[in-house]
Amino acid sequence: MILDGKCPTGPIQQSWDKHRQEMKLVNPANKRKFKILMVGTGLAGGAGAATLGELGYNVEAFCYQDSARRAHSIAAQGGINAAKNYPNDGDSIYRLFYDTVKGGDFRAREADVWRLAQVSNNIIDQCVAQGVPFARDYAGYLDNRSFGGAQVSRTFYARGQTGQQLLLGAYSALARQAKAGSVKIHARREMLDLVVVDGVARGITCRNLITGEIESHWGDAVVLATGGYVNVFYLSTNAMGCSVTAAWKAAKKGAYFANPCYTQIHPTCIPQSGEHQSKLTLMSESLRNDGRIWVPKKEGEKRHPNEIPEEERDYYLERKYPSFGNLAPRDIASRAAKEACDDKRGIGPGGRGVYLDYAASIKRLGENTIRERYGNLFEMYEKITDENAYKEPMRIYPAPHYSMGGLWVDYNCMSNVPGLFVLGEANFSVHGANRLGASALMQGLADGYFVIPYTIAHYLAQITPGKIKDDHPAFKESKAAVENETKKLLSINGKKTPAELHRELGKIMWNNVGMARSEQSLKEALKQIPELREQFWKNLKVAGSGAEFNQQLENAGRLADFLEFAELFAKDALHRDESCGGHFRVEHQTEDGEAMRDDENFCYAAAWEFKGADKEPELHKEPLKFENVHLAVRSYK
Ligand SMILES: Cc1cc2nc3c(=O)[nH]c(=O)nc-3n(C[C@H](O)[C@H](O)[C@H](O)COP(=O)(O)OP(=O)(O)OC[C@H]3O[C@@H](n4cnc5c(N)ncnc54)[C@H](O)[C@@H]3O)c2cc1C
Repeated sequence: MILDGKCPTGPIQQSWDKHRQEMKLVNPANKRKFKILMVGTGLAGGAGAATLGELGYNVEAFCYQDSARRAHSIAAQGGINAAKNYPNDGDSIYRLFYDTVKGGDFRAREADVWRLAQVSNNIIDQCVAQGVPFARDYAGYLDNRSFGGAQVSRTFYARGQTGQQLLLGAYSALARQAKAGSVKIHARREMLDLVVVDGVARGITCRNLITGEIESHWGDAVVLATGGYVNVFYLSTNAMGCSVTAAWKAAKKGAYFANPCYTQIHPTCIPQSGEHQSKLTLMSESLRNDGRIWVPKKEGEKRHPNEIPEEERDYYLERKYPSFGNLAPRDIASRAAKEACDDKRGIGPGGRGVYLDYAASIKRLGENTIRERYGNLFEMYEKITDENAYKEPMRIYPAPHYSMGGLWVDYNCMSNVPGLFVLGEANFSVHGANRLGASALMQGLADGYFVIPYTIAHYLAQITPGKIKDDHPAFKESKAAVENETKKLLSINGKKTPAELHRELGKIMWNNVGMARSEQSLKEALKQIPELREQFWKNLKVAGSGAEFNQQLENAGRLADFLEFAELFAKDALHRDESCGGHFRVEHQTEDGEAMRDDENFCYAAAWEFKGADKEPELHKEPLKFENVHLAVRSYK
């Protein structure tokens, strides 16, 4: 099937404004008749729930953490982009739009990216009004720094804690609505099924993670803002609880999953130190503003980095990409680090690391300035590695970080299942095959504060409120299915814990579907994943019961979904016989190792329809058109 993103027609500059004028509205007295379920309270869901509550809808918000403000968005460090052009360095909405389309290697929808760039400026105003403590310059204006893939400074930040401060802003707005009674927050609930009646999303089934009770919740619309799936690699920069579960359950009920193979491997993370690890730590991309990345020129160099003279160092990003240097986009910087390590010039234990060096900027700006800009990140690095990065270079290596793929949505952020909307990292819409730094926070808040309030009204205005409630048999069926799956997980009584099996899945994914992929490695993954899935259902060990707080049971359920999803991920990577952004097929590269797209055959979003765990999914395509940015070979040289 050819999918239609339903983008507005006409000049792109007016597309969102025109669309807003044309959408239907719900009058204030009618808004309170509708109930909206918001699954997720991160930046996308928290902003969305607060705004919809403020507008007068009845909102119920769900998260699996003990508090809405512990959503994973809190981990974001470096900043959020907006086209304010405060530094007067040539930025504009068009330039942010252009950088994002190019950064995504021409695999995103133009209209969605334009809207994102346009509302980016509203986000900053909104957050400042909420009291988010963005960094300011000496005159008191909001300060900016640079992120990858841009030649302007457009990133607003609050030290290395931007996500936390933005989430506190959204959470304050949410808490205000909770007090006013327009939003009811259900913490410690995990959505384990989507309830669909006659093809329309009507509610969700959740497990109360404290009591184990399985609950039904009905709504006139369901919004998923449930974050990304990069923990399919087991080791990643994401919080341990991040999972594909909500999105995958929706996919199993008919929502198409788009571009699952587009994942981001972030170049700036602390290298893995051993097999014991269950998490990797990000060192924000903002550090590349002042840090210089290098490896020794000589293979197998053993000297301390401070003893290696300048002429024996290879500042490979500055050498290969002189226009963007250390701020080359993430996919490119990650591959370059891998290439240097594959050449046996990597540093640290196992030779899987490169240096990120501050000596030059400390000399130029002084240690205090560097401390003011990145102090908490340097402290974090020291706590983990016991090394002082003011005195010697940091060691970094790429790690799984972000998922550009997600549930397919149209321009209104609605999936192909009517009544099911998807926001933030959980949808596929704006980043294409590679996300530029500081644009995930921008997307989450754009979707939550400025897109969903309009587009959901257009849908609600056309339906009758409360038509189907949780007494409908579909809710009972869904509840029974969730209870059965929980029992099944508890009854296997095998020998391997979810963590052990998850680590095995992570290795299969990293080795075969990671930074570099080939037909051979993908076929290998497609052989190993179903075998591991079989082992999981035969040999899983979950301690405790379902009637209590049981994190092993939670992890087992999430892993069951990852084990199905991983196969789709590898299938998507195999079918996309080109390289683009973070999807690097070794068969398709230029002589100097750059990704080679195939626009003739693959200029589309791939949206997969689930047909059963052991059946072939069906591919639907949404062709991508580039009318405002010339479809060209991406170059940062
Ligand atoms: C270490 C780190 C640093 C980052 N730094 C930056 C940065 O500087 N700038 C930038 O732009 N981006 C950054 N990112 C990316 C960015 O933080 C995320 O993409 C973004 O915050 C995701 O927001 P979200 O609202 O979509 O999802 P999340 O914040 O992940 O929220 C997901 C929500 O869904 C809920 N949920 C999930 N599944 C279920 C379920 N089954 N049932 C019920 N609830 C569920 C969770 O409880 C949570 O409330 C960073 C990411 C990481 C990991």
